[in-house]
Amino acid sequence: MKKQSEDSNEKKTEVTGNPQIPVNRREFLKTAGRFLALSVLGAGLLKFVKLKSPVTVWQIDPRKCIHCGRCATECVLNPSAVRCVHAYEACGYCKLCGGYYRPNASQLNTAAESQLCPTGAIKRTFIEDPYFKYQIDEDLCNGCGKCVKGCASFGNGSLYLQVRHHICVGCNECRIATRCPAQAISLVTTDQAYWKES
Ligand code: SF4
Ligand code: SF4
Ligand code: SF4
Repeated sequence: MKKQSEDSNEKKTEVTGNPQIPVNRREFLKTAGRFLALSVLGAGLLKFVKLKSPVTVWQIDPRKCIHCGRCATECVLNPSAVRCVHAYEACGYCKLCGGYYRPNASQLNTAAESQLCPTGAIKRTFIEDPYFKYQIDEDLCNGCGKCVKGCASFGNGSLYLQVRHHICVGCNECRIATRCPAQAISLVTTDQAYWKES
């Protein structure tokens, strides 16, 4: 009888990595259950707090920006967290793109000397006559704004500068904002962020 009772106790317990410490299965499940409940509660609370506290980000208002060039030089990061963004929906797919070509370009081809961008960050692709697609390689862009100015002067402003939030470190006071001559940079909540479809 005694042997049977011992066997039954053994079935109710498990042995941890340390053979000297028996763990009661029921206690273990209770503890795990409590831990799971707390985790779910914690995640819910975090979600609630996130919903309640809007996230703020530094943003450029392209309607105010005068493409002064300071976005490239005044950011605490080098290269700057500001990059050129292309809104394809607003683009005219122009053959003679003011954002791509230098004003005095002698030939309308993809030669480096014809291009306005100092880093070769804009890729031109033929679509069908007379349309061309222009794509920005953000890794090459330094936020100088030359193409933006060119597009705004001759095109419809589909190129614009924007603080890229996956790069920006979110300074308490954005250094570019303090030096922007057009007061084009401000802190806004993400739901107010300026963004053209691209
Ligand atoms: S500093 Fe201001 S005006 Fe100059 S490029 Fe940047 S956002 Fe535009
Ligand atoms: S011209 Fe300046 S802002 Fe435009 S893509 Fe080239 S580096 Fe970026
Ligand atoms: S907040 Fe800081 S990192 Fe972001 S754009 Fe401004 S200066 Fe650059």
